[in-house]
Amino acid sequence: MSQSLIQDQPRMSGKRQRLTKPELLAPAGSLEKLKFAVHYGADAVYIGGQKYGLRSNADNFSFEEMREGVQFAAKYGAKVFVATNIYAHQEDLDGVEEYLKQLEDAGIAAIIAADPAIVETAQRVAPKLEVHLSTQQSTMNWQAVQFWKEEGLPRVVLARETTMEEIREMKSRVDIELEVFIHGAMCSSVSGRCVLSNHFTDRDSNRGGCCQSCRWKYDLHADEQSVMEPGQNPFTMSSKDLCMIQHIPDLIEAGVDSFKIEGRMKSIHYVASVVNVYRQAIDAYMADPEGYQLRPEWVEDIGKAANRPLNTGFFYAVPGAEEHIYEAEEKPAPYDFAAIVTDYDETTGIATVQQRSPFRPGMQVEFFGPGGRQFVQQLGEITDAAGNPLEAARHPLQKVLVKTDHPVSPLDLMRKRLS
Ligand code: SF4
Repeated sequence: MSQSLIQDQPRMSGKRQRLTKPELLAPAGSLEKLKFAVHYGADAVYIGGQKYGLRSNADNFSFEEMREGVQFAAKYGAKVFVATNIYAHQEDLDGVEEYLKQLEDAGIAAIIAADPAIVETAQRVAPKLEVHLSTQQSTMNWQAVQFWKEEGLPRVVLARETTMEEIREMKSRVDIELEVFIHGAMCSSVSGRCVLSNHFTDRDSNRGGCCQSCRWKYDLHADEQSVMEPGQNPFTMSSKDLCMIQHIPDLIEAGVDSFKIEGRMKSIHYVASVVNVYRQAIDAYMADPEGYQLRPEWVEDIGKAANRPLNTGFFYAVPGAEEHIYEAEEKPAPYDFAAIVTDYDETTGIATVQQRSPFRPGMQVEFFGPGGRQFVQQLGEITDAAGNPLEAARHPLQKVLVKTDHPVSPLDLMRKRLS
């Protein structure tokens, strides 16, 4: 993580103008991820349905799964939003009224929409659904925010290219909720305006098909001749990922209402780790703004789930050449998701865990749960449910028993260090 870059940024204001607790909004690419996001502290999650979303490859939710997700979230006081943020061709609008009514009926709290046709239709046919303006509208000035307020929208999701100063001005001029991306992948072009994927593969970024062409490896040619030196790495056009964990006070003081984490395609491990850290940071700041201090373990824990270098995006300055990844820097995250705790016997100290990647006795693993509970231990004997020793937990979803050094709880996670 480019920590020095982040730490050197000045705070934009010494004044604390408001202390409204922001919402922590997490991605949920599946029902299982929704449950982990909420359990690890998200106040709201955003998901994709079968139509109108921008992640055609995610495990998009059926209406039945949405109902289950809404019920699960409600137990924690959390809400579920649905992304309906394509720019629609005429044919896409067939059935949109029925779809939006069904979302309302399923208990969805809000849709995230970009196309005015979908915005207007939702307001007309599903009045209980809030309509949040999608980041796909690239809103970056207070006049545009005012426009959408006058259209009856309670919330605008700002473009990732918006600066902290612009956010402050919007909040001082317009009484509306602002949702801001605080963590996750960035586009190397202006978000929502890229057609690289359309051009190379005929997969439409604005209808959910982006194939991440900017992160591919390219040879460089001039006049049909390669200009790559022998041994030179292929060229990419990828941007670093956004991470604002070191700037929670700035975001809250600027009046951001919803802290959004990107990544509906990301793993349970990623979602749980990132939500867990931001939950702790927001709660710590709100409990004691004057005494708030960034905890080094939060930065470390974010790094355990990151596979790209991190930066602060456009909040403090337009990212320069050093904020792009021109060579193939992407590497696996340093930890791998190994298992989910499904049960724990306090008498024996033995946990039942469900395998998500292979592990064996002797490996060093880390258990963690909501609120920053975590410990590292070396795995001892692994057995099946009948107590028979196993050489390894090799099979996906296999349930095995392991003794843990400290108590754990269902939905705690176990990760293993890779390097
Ligand atoms: S190709 Fe890259 S820059 Fe373009 S939309 Fe996809 S992720 Fe964004």
